[in-house]
Amino acid sequence: MSVVHFDPYHSDEVPEKAMCGTVGIWEGSTMHNEFSSATCWDLVTCKRCLKQRNKLTKAVKLIEADIIKGMGEFVEFCKDEL
Ligand SMILES: [Zn+2]
Repeated sequence: MSVVHFDPYHSDEVPEKAMCGTVGIWEGSTMHNEFSSATCWDLVTCKRCLKQRNKLTKAVKLIEADIIKGMGEFVEFCKDEL
């Protein structure tokens, strides 16, 4: 049975590395079957992900805050250009 990793961005693309740092588990023809991820912690079964739950949640918040900050700076930049 494959484990479910935490993936807040849950894209259709299979990442090279799971959030917990697990690498290469989905190599080969069965990669899509081997890899599954969830945006919801209730569905995550990967022990490494669960162990780092607090850290990963914080990291996601930081990234999101950074994106918002970046967007704000971009708006300021556009204002200057006008
Ligand atoms: Zn994991």
